[in-house]
Amino acid sequence: MDSQADQLKAIFLPFLVPGHMIPLVDTGRLFAMHGVNVTIITTPANALLFQKAIDRDASSGHQIKTHILEFPSAQVSLPKGIENFNMITSPDMSHKLYYAVSLLQKPIEQLFQDMRPDCIVTDMFYPWTVDSANKLGIPRLVFHGTSYFSLCAASCIKQYAPHQSVKSNTDTFLLPGLPNKIEMTTSQLPRWVRTPEAYTQLMDKIKESEQRSYGAVMNSFHELESAYEEHYKSVMGIKAWSVGPISLWANSDATDKVERGNKATTENEWLNWLNSKECNSVLYVSFGSLNKFSTSQLIELAHGLEASNHQFIWVVRLKNKDEDEGWLRDFEKRIKESNRGLIIWDWAPQLLILEHPAIGGLVTHCGWNSILEGVTAGLPMITWPLYAEQFYNEKLVTDVIKIGVAVGVKEWRKMDEEAKETVKREEIEKAVTFLMGSGVEAAEMKNRARELGNAARSAVQSGGSSQSNLMGLIKELKSLKCERG
Ligand code: UDP
Repeated sequence: MDSQADQLKAIFLPFLVPGHMIPLVDTGRLFAMHGVNVTIITTPANALLFQKAIDRDASSGHQIKTHILEFPSAQVSLPKGIENFNMITSPDMSHKLYYAVSLLQKPIEQLFQDMRPDCIVTDMFYPWTVDSANKLGIPRLVFHGTSYFSLCAASCIKQYAPHQSVKSNTDTFLLPGLPNKIEMTTSQLPRWVRTPEAYTQLMDKIKESEQRSYGAVMNSFHELESAYEEHYKSVMGIKAWSVGPISLWANSDATDKVERGNKATTENEWLNWLNSKECNSVLYVSFGSLNKFSTSQLIELAHGLEASNHQFIWVVRLKNKDEDEGWLRDFEKRIKESNRGLIIWDWAPQLLILEHPAIGGLVTHCGWNSILEGVTAGLPMITWPLYAEQFYNEKLVTDVIKIGVAVGVKEWRKMDEEAKETVKREEIEKAVTFLMGSGVEAAEMKNRARELGNAARSAVQSGGSSQSNLMGLIKELKSLKCERG
């Protein structure tokens, strides 16, 4: 145990979106489990989502706490309590939330100065924190919340612009310089990559700040995407530590898993239902913490799942409550009566569900956390990317680690805009029948997924790659502290 003077003091600053906040809070908890004094900066409504886990960690002797900053609701005209991107209901609210984030810069910088940490670990969406760290003469580690693969693919597109040499949005092009032969179409690229806009400038700032950071803490593990880990470090020239799968490592008990990212839930109908099912017989269908489908897409999905004749748990978040709740409640009743499926409304305890032996695969929107959680559970997947960097992540799953089949989405869209494309029931049925069926190709995918699941578990065990990386990183940060005196 370090004396107080030797102990490393780290501040963690998560972004206000579940897919970034959950893994960065868990990373802070991991640091604290390994002797680091950790403070997590957050706002009142966001603290409610993880405070209990922090309190449990603290009462078991870890030096960890939250520091809660007031949220400038009135200043940005947001209703009280709306402090996270998964709580908003319109693009206008999204702009206000970004504005609120910018107003938090001053109090956060003040806090850095008052607390005098030895290092800060901050989300990519706070590019200015690299300057705050420089002012204090301490390292800033960036947290992206995504795969090495997607960072490498995005960098390759930026450098070579291969999409500019094809005639149409649907022609395929090769991503040059990557370790595998990866093909994409222009329509799968984020629109801000194709045509410069305000978001392009923000991403440029983020990339520039990444280059000037001490390095990156990655929620990935060596055995999963080693060639891209290497590419990121040696070709893109950024120091990085793979310490994942963080969810597996930080959430060791069921209370952690059930509460993760959620205020509280005692609902366990799903558990009784899954306990009554055979091993690998149920498909888990979820599109992350932000997505809400149009009515037409919900209808196609419901029909596709039903027509597949396989059992499923479907997590539904509604955009058009008035239009969709009625028919979906009827659908829910019907599939429950036939014992074929279960709907979970709004938020599911995903980690617990995925590790249940009855789950045999998942449909995922290719959010990085969900992919990694599926990998950890040793599950094959159907990929259905929507926005952000999800089309890159899909390629990793289908073309590199080969544990998934694409449902066939062709067009990237913004998170809060209506998709032009509707995935048809026949395509959904086909993908589900393939993945949950007993064909040779699907069996090979399942084997590969199982092996990766084993590798994930080994990575976080004593002597495993992620374990060693975390120890190495903490040691390096301590020696930097000593050098500063
Ligand atoms: N999640 C969950 N229950 C839900 C929806 C999401 O526990 O009903 C968790 C999921 O386990 C993952 C995170 O929220 O850790 C979502 O992150 P991801 O990167 O998969 O997608 P995003 O929500 O950022 O699109």
